[in-house]
Amino acid sequence: MDQFQQLASWIKDSGNIVFFGGAGTSTESGIPDFRSAAGLYQTQHNSPYPPEVMLSRSFFMSSPDIFFDFYRSKMIHPEAKPNGAHRLLAKLEDEGKLKAVITQNIDGLHQIAGSRRVLELHGSIHRNYCMGCRRYYSLEEWLAMTEAVPRCPDCGGIIKPDVVLYEEALDQEVLVEAVDSIARADLLIIGGTSLTVHPAASLVTYFSGRHTVLLNRDPTPYDEQADLIITERIGDVMGRLQGLLA
Ligand code: ZN
Repeated sequence: MDQFQQLASWIKDSGNIVFFGGAGTSTESGIPDFRSAAGLYQTQHNSPYPPEVMLSRSFFMSSPDIFFDFYRSKMIHPEAKPNGAHRLLAKLEDEGKLKAVITQNIDGLHQIAGSRRVLELHGSIHRNYCMGCRRYYSLEEWLAMTEAVPRCPDCGGIIKPDVVLYEEALDQEVLVEAVDSIARADLLIIGGTSLTVHPAASLVTYFSGRHTVLLNRDPTPYDEQADLIITERIGDVMGRLQGLLA
């Protein structure tokens, strides 16, 4: 049995799969890891700010114009489409096998592919709220605002994307649901994440089910605990799995 057959048989045997994913899940949809996007931005704009600074709460408050310029040009990819990984996960949820997708991504591609239970640890570009009156704005409404710092027509407050910035805490409710889902799972598939961003990465330690699978191109701090490691592109892996599961 090769690696793919092994994973396919575990998926067939499982009734409670949880997928925990990061940036690598979306790179095949054309969304670069934000660190490489930030590096590109720094070069193009001759910007002295590293990504951790530009995407921090204090920088957002002190230099919203630079924040929004970076955010708009590098963090939002409205043209991106789900790939084979997003689609297979949505199908497994439809079949009642997958109970949750936990993601560090903010692109909303899992929901576009049809996933319903998506726990977004770092928020979503699809939700935006006025900091003054809390009015909600969709991504489309937000994109239609062309000023350097988008402001609420009702009250003039800054419209902030519902994404978790550096120095901001993760949503406690999402975190609790994520811990609970991982603790109940019997198969944990971790994909496209280096498992180095905390506290998100420490979530996987709550798993006590049967098998842990890592789909990642580079080594992670969690490799020794994994039962199976596949280093090929995640969209390709999921595409091959789809065939084996059919
Ligand atoms: Zn407002």
